[in-house]
Amino acid sequence: MPTMNVNVVTPDGTVFDGDVDMVSVRAQSGELGILPGHIPLVAPLSVESVRLKKGSATDILAVSGGFVEVRPDRVTILAEAAEKPEDIDVERAQEAKRRAEERLQRAKQDDIDFKRAQLALRRANTRLKVAKN
Ligand code: ATP
Repeated sequence: MPTMNVNVVTPDGTVFDGDVDMVSVRAQSGELGILPGHIPLVAPLSVESVRLKKGSATDILAVSGGFVEVRPDRVTILAEAAEKPEDIDVERAQEAKRRAEERLQRAKQDDIDFKRAQLALRRANTRLKVAKN
């Protein structure tokens, strides 16, 4: 069974480096399932979980934006932030969610603050989902 090397890198360092069978990411154009031998591409990522499948095990990471670069034998994810479930501070994410929801109620929809709060809420919800895994 062919595998590919996956590297998840953030400004703070490498969060994941290993060989997997399949990577699932949410690109801004939609869900992307990447198998070894995939055609090369570069795509911007949404704030979402990334799934890394190896045999019967699946690792999950919370990834906050950035880019995925696919090559036939290698996938690189350059993310603004990425966390493993065990590294997620659930209370912090709950607090960030609460703040973002409060701001969404106050800000007008076309306001820059509204968009920032929407993104902050998405980061918090992704972290809470991944932490439950
Ligand atoms: P907060 O408002 O709690 O800082 P945020 O979404 O604004 O959340 P980011 O800007 O995405 O935070 O991340 C800043 C740094 O803090 C990154 O290194 C990220 O991995 C880390 N981080 C953010 N939230 C959490 C969390 N709940 N648990 C662990 N690390 C976190």
